[in-house]
Amino acid sequence: MTTPMPMPLPLQGQWFDGRSTRAQPVRLGLQATPEGPALWLQPEGQPALRLAPHEVTWPERWHARHAPPALVIDLRQHGSLQVDDPAAWHAALAAAGARPTLAERMQLHAPLLLGALLLAAAALWLFYRFGTPWAASQLTRHVPLAWEQSMARQALARLDESHFKPSKLAPARQAELRGRFAALAAAVQGQASLQPYRGYAPPLALEFRSGMGPNAFALPGGAIVMTDALVEKARTVPGAGDAALLGVLAHEIGHVAHRHVTRMVVEQGVLNVGLGLALGDVPTLTASGAALLTGLSYSRSHERQADCYAMALMRARQLPTAPMSALLLALDAPVSGTPGTDWLSTHPDTADRAARLRTGDMQGCPPL
Ligand SMILES: [Zn+2]
Repeated sequence: MTTPMPMPLPLQGQWFDGRSTRAQPVRLGLQATPEGPALWLQPEGQPALRLAPHEVTWPERWHARHAPPALVIDLRQHGSLQVDDPAAWHAALAAAGARPTLAERMQLHAPLLLGALLLAAAALWLFYRFGTPWAASQLTRHVPLAWEQSMARQALARLDESHFKPSKLAPARQAELRGRFAALAAAVQGQASLQPYRGYAPPLALEFRSGMGPNAFALPGGAIVMTDALVEKARTVPGAGDAALLGVLAHEIGHVAHRHVTRMVVEQGVLNVGLGLALGDVPTLTASGAALLTGLSYSRSHERQADCYAMALMRARQLPTAPMSALLLALDAPVSGTPGTDWLSTHPDTADRAARLRTGDMQGCPPL
């Protein structure tokens, strides 16, 4: 060893060398080296031992007010060391050029620690509030239509088992409504301004079902389900009629075009993966999209987007939205036992919505 021993060794301690159970009194010194502080030990009457920086597990620093009465230092294969004067040890360590780690600095500076905690909490909240929807809407661009359609088929099969019965509407009546729906769908295909996801214009299909109250909802990938009860209700509500049904369908087409269900499914996935990463454990995403789908419900902003979309589509077809408003007001009662993705049960601000739809007021609508 060419490094000369610093003289004198100013500190004192007890050395447990790992071979003998008895402690030996030692003199200690710390020496600055380019790699960090080196530790010198000199047991009484024996040659001095030099430990390189990496041979010592350097104990963390503490605040002066919380100094421990004695300090035990792990010397790895050289046993351990008890230092009698921790404050002097740390003064010597600092003089030998030891830099406190981030964790130590945070312990030394409580406000910094608090700041770091607040920052972490804020980051988590921002991720949840903005990061998740943003990531979901980016990822949704890459979700293939075939995946959406398969998810929709599975979900509809489940609903057919649990909720629905075949429609009892006369075939001619179904054909009539499908014809008018097809005209709406054609308007979407032809207009880039009605495609919030550029180039995303899935084939739209209208399905009729019974076994549930007046309702309509959209599945991802373009399938829209309307109940016999809703068709019947529109006939009986004054001022509603088929124009109201078309308005409802335009609203559901809005959910399809904005890919709301897919976004919610993806968001759920992003959240699971994101939280998993944050907690250091990525859970397996076993729940299939179809299973997730029935537990989801649109947010207010999704409903607003779908209403705005309906108004734009109806305007493009020169159809009135007031009938839809009349139907909405007549139906303002939550339908129980329906899947979350329905037209009625998730609309908390019916009066406000109805007022906008009646006048076709598109002020405040986000650009498509
Ligand atoms: Zn809706």
